[in-house]
Amino acid sequence: MKIPVGILGATGSVGQKFIQLLTNHPWFEITFLGASERSTGKTYKNAVNWFMTEPVPKQIAEMTVGNCTPGADCRVVFSGLDAGVAGEIEENFARAEYIVLSNSRNHRFDPDVPLLIPEVNADHLELINRQTYGKGCIVTNPNCSTIGLVMAIKPMIDLFGIELLNVVTLQALSGAGYPGVASLDIIDNIVPYIGSEEEKIETEPLKILGRIENGSVKMLEMTISAQCNRVAVLDGHTECVSVKLKQPAIETEIITAWQEFTALPQKLNLPTAPKHPVYYYEQDNYPQPKLHRNVDKGMAVHVGRLRKDPIFDYKFIVISHNTVRGAAGCAILNAEMMLKKGYIPSC
Ligand code: NAP
Repeated sequence: MKIPVGILGATGSVGQKFIQLLTNHPWFEITFLGASERSTGKTYKNAVNWFMTEPVPKQIAEMTVGNCTPGADCRVVFSGLDAGVAGEIEENFARAEYIVLSNSRNHRFDPDVPLLIPEVNADHLELINRQTYGKGCIVTNPNCSTIGLVMAIKPMIDLFGIELLNVVTLQALSGAGYPGVASLDIIDNIVPYIGSEEEKIETEPLKILGRIENGSVKMLEMTISAQCNRVAVLDGHTECVSVKLKQPAIETEIITAWQEFTALPQKLNLPTAPKHPVYYYEQDNYPQPKLHRNVDKGMAVHVGRLRKDPIFDYKFIVISHNTVRGAAGCAILNAEMMLKKGYIPSC
């Protein structure tokens, strides 16, 4: 029997991706869809402005959208709620003993809330034991650009350490939700500002890559500088990264570290885990969002153009799918990891 799950913010950009990825999931079954008052009481097909390439799954289309208050007939909820409302709604659900897997920024820095990438810091799940929601809890996934960046640097940090990191992002339109950026603002243009994004990329990796000491996270010491741009790509964030290493490394050692990187989700063969977390490309003009974002279920991170940097030590390019690896897919992988580790009771 599958585990019933709900989706909060089911009509949004991330919510639609949750529906796409959870339909036919081997362990989870969608039993509740929640959104704002605008959508409540409507059938899903009438409430949503569906913009996924496959049609709305039949069994979902006729479901009635509920409001985002506890009462849903499931114990696990995935949240793709607007950050303006997510904080309080997610807490209400956790207090009502739901297991909440959130995409929003609101609880990411709560000291007892894991900011989770299962390939990187699955051990941070033990923070849940400090939460005071009874059988409920909140687990967050990081910002979409942070996830791609951290997965790409994790093998380097393990082997060589990173002292300084500079990143310039070229972020896809779907990252701004729906309807997102006005067409007149983005066609023939680049917008060199994404609200709060630089702060998130400069701080979130330090928690994710931090160590658990005496029951709390000791942040990693590393200085990050980020500049974020919105570009006219539909899906897939690109990041131009430069790093200063703590220990010297030659290019082949770094490439081997990426190619050999594997972690607990791969070992446990979790359904949403990519076969390889990081793909390295030799071609001068790879990776590209249009060509690589969907490789390995959209859950892998793509790296290329490793070369010496005259200011830092090395520079390279990272690509990842922002609504799959960077949002809904990561939250689903978090839930799969929690189930395997006993944080979500099986049916
Ligand atoms: P979005 O397209 O604007 O969707 C927002 C959702 O929240 C909609 O379902 C909306 O329902 C619902 N909502 C708004 N106000 C509500 C209220 N008062 N009560 C209940 N539901 C309400 O946003 P998105 O891009 O999917 O992003 C969702 C969250 O994920 C954000 O916190 C965002 O920062 C984060 N995130 C997004 C991405 C990405 O790539 N898009 C990546 C990582 C994280 P209605 O349709 O009924 O208004």
